[in-house]
Amino acid sequence: MEWTEFSRWGSHISQWAADYHATLRERPVRAQVQPGEISAQLPAHPPENGEPMDAVMADFERIVMPGITHWQHPRFFAYFPANAAPPSMLAEMLVSTIAPQCMLWQTSPAATEMETRMLEWLRQALGLPGNFSGVIQDSASSATLAAVLTMRERALGWTGNAKGLSGQPRLRVYTSAEVHTSVDRAIWVSGIGEENLVRIPTGGPLRAMDPAALDAAIRADIENGFLPCGLVACTGGTGTGACDDLAAVIKVAKAYNLYTHVDAAWAGSAMICPEFRTLWEGVDGADSVVFNPHKWLGAQFDCSAHFIADPESLVKTLAIQPEYLKTHGADGIINYSEWSVPLGRRFRALKLWFLIRSYGLEGLRQRIRNHVAWSQSLAERLRQTPGFEIVTEPVLSLFTFRLADKTDAQLIEYVNRINTDGRIYITQTRVDGQIAIRFQVGQFDATRDDVDTAFDVLSEIAETI
Ligand SMILES: *Cc1c(COP(=O)(O)O)cnc(C)c1O
Repeated sequence: MEWTEFSRWGSHISQWAADYHATLRERPVRAQVQPGEISAQLPAHPPENGEPMDAVMADFERIVMPGITHWQHPRFFAYFPANAAPPSMLAEMLVSTIAPQCMLWQTSPAATEMETRMLEWLRQALGLPGNFSGVIQDSASSATLAAVLTMRERALGWTGNAKGLSGQPRLRVYTSAEVHTSVDRAIWVSGIGEENLVRIPTGGPLRAMDPAALDAAIRADIENGFLPCGLVACTGGTGTGACDDLAAVIKVAKAYNLYTHVDAAWAGSAMICPEFRTLWEGVDGADSVVFNPHKWLGAQFDCSAHFIADPESLVKTLAIQPEYLKTHGADGIINYSEWSVPLGRRFRALKLWFLIRSYGLEGLRQRIRNHVAWSQSLAERLRQTPGFEIVTEPVLSLFTFRLADKTDAQLIEYVNRINTDGRIYITQTRVDGQIAIRFQVGQFDATRDDVDTAFDVLSEIAETI
């Protein structure tokens, strides 16, 4: 393609993007295709000769778009949000254009220095103490993996990378049943093994880890010759929004010199509002914290903010050339590839800069406050409606509910009928072994009307079950 043609298509796609957003409410939220329907339309073999962009774009509309689930749809109430606010999209267009590889300071100093400053802005916005440094990871899963590797190395006296785990004491990591499966995968990948991920029982309305049970489990493991190395706690678990009592569990973990990591992938964005910070009281004492601006804050995927109290231990775990450590600090530069598992890095900080400058923290807070208020008022409305029962109370903008006296199979049928109807999109989880339906409000363009439509759809389709 010639660059002269690029300009025409670039303008076309910008217009397409604006039209797409303007007409999102007319589309079913979840893709309405059957498995295999898209691949059946894709040629089995690559073309030998180039084709005009008109043909490619026409096929994009015809083949690809029907197979898209619209995450930017204002009535997307499933999973958690993945907001791509327009200023962040524009920044991504610029990043795509320049396409820098930002693994080292010198491979684009602006990317590194912007990243340091943006993470400092986010730290202040969340009210985290000044001893935290930040880095952008591609996902919360990567940040949690980096944290688990750090806890492993720290407990093994930095010998795990060199010697492997055979012949070492058996490591133990503590968590609850409420954490995301990214914790399990970090345990697998780090070589610690699922059997050494100890699940501490939870209780109370926030399904929080029992600190006394945590203490007892660590003590018993030490007596049995295991090597406790870390704690992974959560603020806003994926199923129902579980929140550990961070002050209490970090205190226990610290007494045994464990490394502590907090997964606040979804709920962390809400901490820009001071009134929600009681949910993670005690976070100041953590060794690391992750939250995803790519979920609720509006920074297009991927952008995961990872705060670390002692970056030296992370760098000691992940930097492949130890002499880099000496460079860092001596001349004041940071090579962020030493802070993460992948070497290559995109320029992700730019979209945070565009986003935060464009809305201001106050504009971002207002959106999150609206989502929380609308979700909580929907929960109240459902509570008052015969046939519905609230299963877990709202944590920020997430709650779960059921239709009274229905089986798991009927509830799954209910969710399927709603998503086939297409006006809204929701998903389910299990609470104490039984199906519960999750509802969260978080899309940036959602309005109170959209949440009212959700009530209409939920009650209308409940009649058919
Ligand atoms: C979404 C989520 C994750 C995983 O986030 P990725 O960035 O997709 O890896 C981890 N933990 C919690 C609590 C989440 O909500």
